Amino acid sequence: MYNEFVQFVRTIYNSSDFIPLHAPYFAGNEKKYLEECIDTTFVSSVGEFVDRFEEITKSYTGSTKAVVCVNGTNALHMAMELVGVKRDDEILTQALTFIATANAISYIPAHPVFLDVDKDTMGLSPVAVENWLKENAEIRHGETFNKKTGRRIKACIPMHTFGFPVHLDELVAVCEKYHIELIEDAAESLGSFYRGRHTGTFGKVGVLSYNGNKTITTGGGGMLLFQDEKLGTYAKHLTTQAKVPHRWEFVHDHIGYNYRMPNINAALGCAQMENLGMILENKRKTAQMYKEYFRDNESIKFFEEPKTSKSNYWLNVVLLSDKNAQTAFLEYTNDHNVMTRPIWELMNRLEMFRNCQTDDLTNTKWFADRVVNIPSGVRV
Ligand SMILES: *Cc1c(COP(=O)(O)O)cnc(C)c1O
Repeated sequence: MYNEFVQFVRTIYNSSDFIPLHAPYFAGNEKKYLEECIDTTFVSSVGEFVDRFEEITKSYTGSTKAVVCVNGTNALHMAMELVGVKRDDEILTQALTFIATANAISYIPAHPVFLDVDKDTMGLSPVAVENWLKENAEIRHGETFNKKTGRRIKACIPMHTFGFPVHLDELVAVCEKYHIELIEDAAESLGSFYRGRHTGTFGKVGVLSYNGNKTITTGGGGMLLFQDEKLGTYAKHLTTQAKVPHRWEFVHDHIGYNYRMPNINAALGCAQMENLGMILENKRKTAQMYKEYFRDNESIKFFEEPKTSKSNYWLNVVLLSDKNAQTAFLEYTNDHNVMTRPIWELMNRLEMFRNCQTDDLTNTKWFADRVVNIPSGVRV
């Protein structure tokens, strides 16, 4: 049965070699722009590709401002600083995420609280957030505090898992009700839309990543998305050592960061953005083929985008019937040179986060035992 799947993947990827889960795809102006950087010597922290990459991303996502970062993890760190997260605050997020979300919270250092995801999105559940707040939180003078720990609950960071948008309207509403800042970890969801609007533009700050395995890559890189222009301008200042602009003086007015993406990476980003439409179409077609393939399968279900959303189908997902079936599927496919993998180990099960607060994580655990990612790169 799994053999048939392996053959199917080989057919759609037209390959008898190793098939990776995802791979960068360079088919446009990447080389040309990189050569431009080298020829002009603008490879580092100055250069026109940075501005251009921010402009393109701003207009593609419908943001008011976009600010580059050296990677998605420190873009998340910046996002928290920018909305005023302070030492010892609590941050509501999901256990079902890549480690970067929880790591960035720890840099403040703040405390992650791991709450359950929805069955139809695999992302943070607004109902779980509201239920947890009802039981654990109290509002005092326009701020929300945890009744048990006494700590302030300052922000909420949902993650659009594998590109599937969470229920944003409901999440925005519950965050507003409790005066909690919403930051979207949209690292996996460039090209994903919720009710027609790009993910990462609903919260106060949205974060994108251009790591090598993401939908498009800059080698390494991240982006901050803003609706508030002033906050975006301040983000630029903070990520560039908080230097006061002057022709020759070096004066800084804040503890800043050197988080600006080099021009050479932004050059790759500009070229990649030119092909984003094609890449997304190709990925959507792949998802469609998998969907057809698994349509009548009783024991393996293909995970589809939620009704309110358009997913970028960054990584395709199948759900096996239980943990044993998941292991058997992973073993067979990886033994046969078709790369597949389970979802990340849940954050609350890792040594560093073992003592963090959680809710019952019912859906989270259900997914952990069933999810397998299957090859999702661009078919050439
Ligand atoms: C990729 C990713 C990030 C950012 O990763 P970087 O490698 O630092 O760019 C953050 N959160 C999630 C959920 C991710 O998948």
